[in-house]
Amino acid sequence: MEENVIESQTEALNFIGGEWVPADSGETSEVVNPSNPSEILGTTPRSDRAETERAIEAATKALPDWKATLPASRGAILMEAANIIESREDELATLMAREAGKPMKEARMEVGRAASIFRYYGSEGWRLDGINPPSARPGVTHASMREPLGVVGLITPWNFPLAIPSWKMAPALICGNTIVIKPAANASLNAAALVGILSEAGLPDGVVNMVTGPGSTVGDALVTDPRVKGLSFTGSTATGLGIQERAIGKKVQLEMGGKNPFVVMEDADLADAAAKISFSAFGFAGEKCTAASRAIVVEEVYDEFIGELKSATEAIKVGDPMDEDVAVGPVVNKDQYESILAALETAKGEGRVVIEGGATGSEDEGYFIAPAIIADVDNRSETAQEEIFGPVLAVIKARDFDHAVELANDTRYGLTAGIATKSLRYAYEFMARSETGLVNVNLPTAGLEFQVPFGGNKESGVGGREQGPAALDFYSAWKTVSVMPL
Ligand code: NAP
Repeated sequence: MEENVIESQTEALNFIGGEWVPADSGETSEVVNPSNPSEILGTTPRSDRAETERAIEAATKALPDWKATLPASRGAILMEAANIIESREDELATLMAREAGKPMKEARMEVGRAASIFRYYGSEGWRLDGINPPSARPGVTHASMREPLGVVGLITPWNFPLAIPSWKMAPALICGNTIVIKPAANASLNAAALVGILSEAGLPDGVVNMVTGPGSTVGDALVTDPRVKGLSFTGSTATGLGIQERAIGKKVQLEMGGKNPFVVMEDADLADAAAKISFSAFGFAGEKCTAASRAIVVEEVYDEFIGELKSATEAIKVGDPMDEDVAVGPVVNKDQYESILAALETAKGEGRVVIEGGATGSEDEGYFIAPAIIADVDNRSETAQEEIFGPVLAVIKARDFDHAVELANDTRYGLTAGIATKSLRYAYEFMARSETGLVNVNLPTAGLEFQVPFGGNKESGVGGREQGPAALDFYSAWKTVSVMPL
């Protein structure tokens, strides 16, 4: 293996068969610092189908040996990766703050989470549960065991540049699959750092490969190549649903967008609810699939709650993501910046402005957008139905609990939902009636733990859960053997 070029943190070359290589064309894309768009942090190859096909070839070649490696030995490599990730917390968090604009406090938490994910799945090397129920026929024994799918393609977004690749790679690897990952352009330096760490931890050449370049070519090659047997995608619903149509003959998992509701009941601790909704809506500038984007508040406490929400939000510090006290840094790039500001203008026309938010300065000084709260929004409006993926929160009035549940479910998305209440009846009924994959009672909609199944329903998720033991089910297929000794 060649030297890990990522030490310089400025170049994310492709990683194919254990070697760091540029795109065939030599073309690169610039990685821009969203806090200061005139600063170019580095470059990443603008690859094409041919490089992706070579990476698939390398992963195919590495598969038999990796599949035959004892699960506990695979696990030991993942454990070592966890140790390295942890030992580089400062370096990795800084890279994330610079490349994705993620505030340092959340970036450090994400580094810790990535290490925990590798440790968690590393320990699965000693378990990888099987099933052996008794047979109905005398003398016959059954054994069902997990087999890897083969080569898996991973397509990842920019908003959790370490955690999402980690929670896809770690279960895929422990199950014995080999990988080709295509990270989002805005997360390439982070992804390359992670791939470098896996290699340093002892992963054999070809087991993990990375190719950067446009989704429409590099991503599409992973979606359509028949040698790729499993495909896990996280990104927008529009991209995901397009992938679903083209990924013929492979196991597919799609984690997509959200329009997450947070219901506030009349018996809630309003200050606590306001703090949790504000954190869920505006942390990392709302660029989380789990961000709360609709606060649905019963009319009895509507005005009082808006007062609490305003105070909680005004206390949020916007600014340089390297500042450990900042909760809202820049949004990730110019496209996001423009699309969020346009959505905010629409929102202002669809409700009452509680906090105006918006651009904090000129675009040349960084893509900073302060939190905005728009009240009296109709749940059928564009603001309440379309994912903005930025720091814009709609507040919607509900008559009572039943109306609040109806509004919460009135969306094509189904990722996560929250409720603030002290009533067990409200809490349990909401858990049962919410159409989301994740429900939080008196907890933020964002900030979930890695050891529980994660994923959405409706147009937020298709094809099985990520994280926790559920991820092993996606990255493996059961093989059942039945034996009659003669
Ligand atoms: P995106 O634009 O859909 O991109 C996601 C990935 O797909 C990127 O790597 C992208 O590559 C690639 N891609 C684009 N077009 C493709 C195509 N035709 N074929 C194959 N791959 C293609 O999403 P994003 O803007 O990066 O991320 C934000 C979205 O992700 C939001 O909607 C958010 O809700 C969602 N998200 C969901 C979850 C979840 O778990 N449910 C978690 C995090 C984020 P390039 O961009 O490099 O071209």
